[in-house]
Amino acid sequence: MSTFQRLESPSFQSSCELCREAGGAMIFQSAHWRVIRAEDAAFPAFYRVVWRAHVAEWSDLSLAHQAEVMGVVTAVERVLREALAPTKINLASLGNVTPHLHWHVIARFDWDSHYPAPVWAAAAREVAPPPVERLGLALDALDARVARAVAALAPGA
Ligand SMILES: [Zn+2]
Repeated sequence: MSTFQRLESPSFQSSCELCREAGGAMIFQSAHWRVIRAEDAAFPAFYRVVWRAHVAEWSDLSLAHQAEVMGVVTAVERVLREALAPTKINLASLGNVTPHLHWHVIARFDWDSHYPAPVWAAAAREVAPPPVERLGLALDALDARVARAVAALAPGA
């Protein structure tokens, strides 16, 4: 797993959590973006694609950078589909709490605690055994597959 390195950039905002910290388990970092895993026990296969520079809105990115980010989001989604066969993939970009551009890529299952509501809604049920044990794949193996897939898309790769 790679190590989080702050982006030395005029856009850095010390008040912003995603400028200061990785925001989860570091999976891969390129010059422009990083992929982290959210470390949410209820949703173990929950990744985020974070644009490294501090921009708040999707339309702040050029079309070329939007295409780059969507390529990474798509690569993460494909790994989750192939590795886990989830009921559904959820993609979201909200940023209400942390207005630093990031995409959520979440494998959802019809047995998960919130399904079919969004992960941010109230839980609908208790899940046992724990979700991580129901994935059928160890998280470090899943992380490695995600890292391999997105590394191929890094600028200069
Ligand atoms: Zn930021």
